[in-house]
Amino acid sequence: MSVSLRTDLHMHTTASDGQFSPTDIVAMARERHLTVIAITDHDTTDGIAEAQAASRISGSHLHDPMIVPGIELSAEDSGGDVHMLGYWLNIEDAELQTTLARFRQDRADRAKRIVENLERIGMPIRYERVLEIAAVSGKRGGAIGRPHIARAMIEAGYADSIIDAFNRWLSPGMPAYVARERLSPEGAIALIHRSGGAAVMAHPAKVPEYRAMVIRLVEAGLDGVEVVHPANDANTRLELRGLAAIYGLITTGGSDFHGRGENGEISLGQYNPPPDTWRALQAAAENHRARNT
Ligand code: AMP
Ligand code: ZN
Ligand code: FE
Ligand code: FE
Repeated sequence: MSVSLRTDLHMHTTASDGQFSPTDIVAMARERHLTVIAITDHDTTDGIAEAQAASRISGSHLHDPMIVPGIELSAEDSGGDVHMLGYWLNIEDAELQTTLARFRQDRADRAKRIVENLERIGMPIRYERVLEIAAVSGKRGGAIGRPHIARAMIEAGYADSIIDAFNRWLSPGMPAYVARERLSPEGAIALIHRSGGAAVMAHPAKVPEYRAMVIRLVEAGLDGVEVVHPANDANTRLELRGLAAIYGLITTGGSDFHGRGENGEISLGQYNPPPDTWRALQAAAENHRARNT
């Protein structure tokens, strides 16, 4: 007898800019019969312990998903922004946590500057309110992102939706935008490897010349590419599978779930990589760990 083994390896929680707590996410994953989920918050691993605790026995119970520790790092390149997913990293690694704390501080400083820009152009919101929206169950210090500012703008009546706030004010080139410190794509891969994880290029379709970027990053030790993702259309997926076959990359996938969509829909668990992808990522991570020691 075979059961469907659905997995989802890309999602965000309230530890960064997701709208559901890690505990909620695990409950939703259980309802959807997902066997494995990866928590991949922006610049923080703080949601992972809660998810693991919520999935009480880490997947050994029939209906509890196994939790893969992950991260999503933003890297910057002249060829466009590149997001790098890290899987199975050692979340106790001191260098990793020091670096992530620095990124989160930079996110907070930048959010303050965006709020100042908004004030200057006649849309005052309180920075304190942005911090409240970003807070993880009352806890400060999570990864603050532009979506939190967008939500404060919606509350204040300056925007109709998160997308609307980005399109008119928060995206690069728009009046309130402020850039922040980011790694190079190679730097992101190196940090993930030094932390004992496997590095996967996220949603390649969002990078204009993704083919060239994948080939370039193979040189830097890229372990995989995200093939199944809402941003990748059928052609892109086909092309990515071809690249992965040529360069020996792991093909991954996930929903990049942040919360309910415009129509209230929940995409969690709707974008599935092959069920054993998490194992391939774990093996790649173990190789990097062996090399690190
Ligand atoms: P930040 O981390 O502050 O750079 O914000 C990036 C996050 O904002 C992404 O991870 C998405 O969740 C969200 N985002 C980026 N662009 C848009 C957009 N055009 N519309 C809605 N959300 C967006
Ligand atoms: Zn996000
Ligand atoms: Fe991303
Ligand atoms: Fe993401």
